[in-house]
Amino acid sequence: MSGNELRFQAICQVTDREKLPPKTPSRLEELWAVDVFTLSKMQACLPKEVYKSIKSTVQTGGKLDVAVAGTVAAAMKDWAISKGALYYAHVFYPMTNITAEKHDGFISVQSDGSAITEFTGKVLVQGEPDGSSFPNGGIRSTFEARGYTAWDVTSPAYIMETDNGATLCIPTVFISWTGEALDKKTPLLRSNAAMSKAAVRLLKLLGYADVAPVNSSCGAEQEYFLVDAHFAHSRPDILLTGRTLFGRPAAKGQQFDDHYFGAIPERVQVFMQDVEERMYRLGIPAKTRHNEVAPGQFELAPFFEAANVASDHQQMTMTILKNTAKKHGFICLLHEKPFAGINGSGKHVNWSVGNATQGNLLDPGDTPHDNLQFLLFCGAVIRGVHMYGPLLRAVVASASNDHRLGANEAPPAIISVYLGTQLEDVFEQIKQGDVKSSAHAGVMSLGVLTLPEFPKDPGDRNRTSPFAFTGNRFEFRAVGSNQSVSGPLVAMNTILTDSLTWVADELEAELAKGLSLEDASFAVLKEVMADHSDVVFGGNGYSEAWHKMAVEERGLLNLPTTADALPILKEKYIEALFEKTGVLSAAELESRFDVYAEQYVQVIEMEAKLVISMAKTVIYPAAFRYLSELATSITNLKQIGITLEQESAEKVAGLTKLMIDTVSKLESAIANHDFATIEDHMQYCAKTLRPLMDQVREYADAIEGDVADDLWPLPKYQEMLFIK
Ligand code: ADP
Ligand code: MG
Repeated sequence: MSGNELRFQAICQVTDREKLPPKTPSRLEELWAVDVFTLSKMQACLPKEVYKSIKSTVQTGGKLDVAVAGTVAAAMKDWAISKGALYYAHVFYPMTNITAEKHDGFISVQSDGSAITEFTGKVLVQGEPDGSSFPNGGIRSTFEARGYTAWDVTSPAYIMETDNGATLCIPTVFISWTGEALDKKTPLLRSNAAMSKAAVRLLKLLGYADVAPVNSSCGAEQEYFLVDAHFAHSRPDILLTGRTLFGRPAAKGQQFDDHYFGAIPERVQVFMQDVEERMYRLGIPAKTRHNEVAPGQFELAPFFEAANVASDHQQMTMTILKNTAKKHGFICLLHEKPFAGINGSGKHVNWSVGNATQGNLLDPGDTPHDNLQFLLFCGAVIRGVHMYGPLLRAVVASASNDHRLGANEAPPAIISVYLGTQLEDVFEQIKQGDVKSSAHAGVMSLGVLTLPEFPKDPGDRNRTSPFAFTGNRFEFRAVGSNQSVSGPLVAMNTILTDSLTWVADELEAELAKGLSLEDASFAVLKEVMADHSDVVFGGNGYSEAWHKMAVEERGLLNLPTTADALPILKEKYIEALFEKTGVLSAAELESRFDVYAEQYVQVIEMEAKLVISMAKTVIYPAAFRYLSELATSITNLKQIGITLEQESAEKVAGLTKLMIDTVSKLESAIANHDFATIEDHMQYCAKTLRPLMDQVREYADAIEGDVADDLWPLPKYQEMLFIK
């Protein structure tokens, strides 16, 4: 059998595929949150006092009163059963980026052999999955093998449906027996609480008597690729690693800019509508859909929500994208760099902080007082990003995101802040101390503390900045498409907590000197700018000049790979940050370093093994078959007096030899396990294994460019990216 059969079969299968039967679209009110056990559903079925108690728990994030848990559990079970559920699951978010579930039946067998359904307050509030196989970075071995899950009441329970029934899902935190966080949700809740405390304190200093708890918000834009499953299934690399380890870029890529915001292919739009319906049923506010820059790449953005709920919803969104894609005959690739030569995928995390009494605290606002408050919060962010920029780099570090960061398609691995020309100008004036002067074109006069109206969607967007102010929020653009948004949110909340505390301390000290609130605030802001304006940068983040200036003149760190970035988590100042804010203990932080470092090494070693096996068992045989064909025809032709140039054969033979030699080098390199520390092992992966893998690929992709098309076994880029 020739090598191409699978590939041609796949092309036929894709082009001949039958469309899914059309669905009648539902109206929004028929869909919205129907699968969520919302507060209003609880209000309808719970006794008044119970409802009041749970409502206050939801709104303040406090502990659920055990006395009401039983009543809530019974109501939740009845609702779930009415939706066809026989099982419930505690859903939790271990330190990997996945969503984990432990399913249990409502069934309880009675002594007479009959079965009833049962769901007590105790099992609602606490579960005990055998989580011993989840990575814990050594935390649990030193304490207790078991991990516990506990309902996070601020995130509502919901129903997940398959074709064969429904499951009640309960979002939970996952902690060790001694209370250590083993997951991504616990630190997020803690960071929110810490940030709230610091923000409330500052707001009170600003003179507000009535200050509601402050919460962080998040709107995460998700980029993804869709590839027909027939193609994806014929590619071991996509199947196992989520990306192509081989593949020669097609002649057509994204150079014509014809995909971005172009008409969405019909098959894809049908898929998106299905995704959105599922999201609406689960109360996830899908809001924007469009094609992205690369062929086959798309984006989905929800309306923003409270960070904790947004984070759970983001995990659900990734699951829904993957599962729905399968129904539509696609594979949804969330990997940060599935295809070489075209853009990879990110997840822009839009983040702000606000409360019910003062609103969005990163919104400039209309009154001088609002503006002062805004400048202090914004100044706090600037200080935080300057002091802890490397932490922001570390929390988005992964083997797959390394392909994007610093590759001139995503923000660089140097963390700086983009403010926009107007706001940068305001902060520059604050730094100069000339706050009484009025600025450009009469748009603002800091003398009366009136800032210009900032356009909500500033025209001067800077896509090359990793951390950009976008009118009333910051947009963290370095986050990878496959990552949980929780880590970035924890980092942003925590550095803001530290900065707000510092701002409040300084402000108190200035006020104690007898300064007016305005003068005291500007004194603090001036200090922020004197020490931290180096992090503010409005130019081209991709340019060589910036990389040089950032590092040499401004002292910012450039951490190109995960091997460089992750060790930041072990720095004393980072440990101190998490300890003093109460977000992570030293042991919890260290366990996170261990887990992520281990993951990085595992991913690269797994990919390296697959590179070796594909090079030997897929690419080499294709080259060999082609060479045999050439050899036969060259000889045959010679016999009838035609001489053919042997160049082509020699070229392919040469490349194949180079490829196989490099594969041998990679094989011996991967056998090396002699490392003093995991840091050394990570550096080895980044500096030795990765370059060898890239080299094998380079030869293989060159071979693909010469071997007869009908002998090439793997679906090619042009097929995967353009046939839908
Ligand atoms: P763009 O692609 O231009 O950056 P989008 O409209 O695709 O913008 O995404 C912007 C995201 O920012 C949306 O998810 C939106 O809900 C979110 N967002 C808006 N305001 C806030 C806020 N105050 N806090 C957090 N996210 C916000
Ligand atoms: Mg964006």
